[in-house]
Amino acid sequence: MPEGDAVLRTARRLDAALAGAVLTRTDFRVPRHATVDLSGQPVQATLARGKHLLTRIGADWTLHTHLKMEGSWATLRPRQRWPKAPHLARVVLETQSAQAVGFQLGIVELVPRSEEAATFAYLGPDLLGPDWDEDEAVLRLRKHPDQPVFDALRDQRNLAGIGTMWAAEVCFTMGVHPETPVRAVPDLLRMVRVAQLKLDQAVTKRPAVNAVYGRGHATCLRCATPIQRIEMGEQGRLRPAYFCPSCQPLKG
Ligand SMILES: [Zn+2]
Repeated sequence: MPEGDAVLRTARRLDAALAGAVLTRTDFRVPRHATVDLSGQPVQATLARGKHLLTRIGADWTLHTHLKMEGSWATLRPRQRWPKAPHLARVVLETQSAQAVGFQLGIVELVPRSEEAATFAYLGPDLLGPDWDEDEAVLRLRKHPDQPVFDALRDQRNLAGIGTMWAAEVCFTMGVHPETPVRAVPDLLRMVRVAQLKLDQAVTKRPAVNAVYGRGHATCLRCATPIQRIEMGEQGRLRPAYFCPSCQPLKG
């Protein structure tokens, strides 16, 4: 699942393709907005807010999309062949010089611009945003001291942008077991700084090999202990947490 770094790269790509141009065709292939036509309106910008994509169209609308598990946005030349099957498309935005096609998006909704700020107010500080505030992130984490740190890092109300992969990698770097309660993490400020640095570097550089995420059948790069995988999160929304039991002993 794409996390904040990949979402920011997508936002920049959409912005480069569409910003400043007038839409010549729009097609919202979701029941709620199937009859909406925003052609004739200029695209102002696309920005990332945590793992959410916000495309501001004209003065009145923000197109909110979320990649969730399998979603992607293709930015193409006019009439260029789509990289995925047409029935997977959820949104088409065309200008004279480009087309952007959103495939398999988890969320497609048009939010009135006047409600944009309120709609995303629940999100914590964005690790890659201009509002990034490490102290505020620590404060929010501390509000739920018994929450396992892996779940707390993925909770977008605490800090926005981290998913299953980066949560596991941050826990490994910090040497904390994913089930460690927040109150027992030795240095929360350092942890959010590590998280911010990892995502920030991943925006521009090709990510290095994961230390633990997705390495359930391999051994720890640091100590050669077999990497373990457990399921964490709420019932029905469980996520795999990978960790090294030797480098990340359970405390607290
Ligand atoms: Zn290890």
